[in-house]
Amino acid sequence: MRSKLVVGNWKMHGGTVQNRDLLNAVIAGTEGMNGTSLAVCVPYPYLSQAQSILQATHVRWGAQNVSQYDKGAYTGEVSAAMLMDFGCRYVIVGHSERRALYGEDSHTVALKFRAAQSVGLTPVLCVGETLDQREAAITEQVVAEQLDAIIELVGIDALAKSVLAYEPVWAIGTGKTATPEQAQEVHAFIRGRIAANNSEVATGLQILYGGSAKANNAAELFAMPDIDGGLIGGASLVADEFIAICDAAKN
Ligand code: PEP
Repeated sequence: MRSKLVVGNWKMHGGTVQNRDLLNAVIAGTEGMNGTSLAVCVPYPYLSQAQSILQATHVRWGAQNVSQYDKGAYTGEVSAAMLMDFGCRYVIVGHSERRALYGEDSHTVALKFRAAQSVGLTPVLCVGETLDQREAAITEQVVAEQLDAIIELVGIDALAKSVLAYEPVWAIGTGKTATPEQAQEVHAFIRGRIAANNSEVATGLQILYGGSAKANNAAELFAMPDIDGGLIGGASLVADEFIAICDAAKN
C-alpha cells in the first residue's frame, strides 16, 4: 500500500521570523504521524534556515524550482547540486505558475525533472489543465501531453523515483477545490496511463492532489483510492491548517 505524503508549497512567501515560528509549530503539531511523510518547499534564500530547523526532525524540505543546467553562465539560476548542498529531498517541477508566468514548456520541465534526479533529488512533477481546457473536455489530453514529455526524456522507470501532483490550474489559489470525484478521475487516468507502460511503477507512485486543499476538504480528497496526499499552497502557510491537513493524511 502506498503511504501518504503532504508537501507544502510556500511560493514566494516567508521571512526568517515567521518561517521559524511556522516550522516549529509544524514540527510540534505533526509529531508521531506514523506512516505519513511531510515536507515543505521553501524559497531558495530560506533553504539554509529550513535545513537547520528541520534536519533532526521528521519534516523534510525542498525547493520550488531548479535549473535544467548543471552549472555555468546562467545568471539567477540554481542547480540541483546546490539544492543537495542544503539537504533538500524534493523539488517541485512544472508548477502551473512557472509554466504560465515563466514560459516553461513540457520539454523544459522534463529537463528539470532529469536534472533533479541526476543528483538524487525527488522531483514533484505538477500536471493539470486550465479551466478552458476542462471546459473543452481536453483535460486528459493535456495531462497526457505533460506526462509523456517526461516519459519520453527519462523513461518510465524514472517515475518510480518521483512524486506526481495533479493540480487543476482553475483550483490553484482560487478557493475552488476539485471535488474528490473530479480529482480521483484524473488521478486514476494518470495511474492508468503509467500502468500501460509499467504497472509496478504505477502501483507504487504517489500522486498528490493540489488546488485549494484545506483542512475542511482534505480528508475526503485523501480518502479517494488514487489520491496519495496533497501539494498544499496557501494553507501550508497557516500552521493549524497545515497540521490539520497532515492529520487528515494519516493512514
Ligand atoms: C500550489 O500552488 O501548488 C497550490 C496547490 O496552491 P493552493 O493550495 O493555494 O491552491
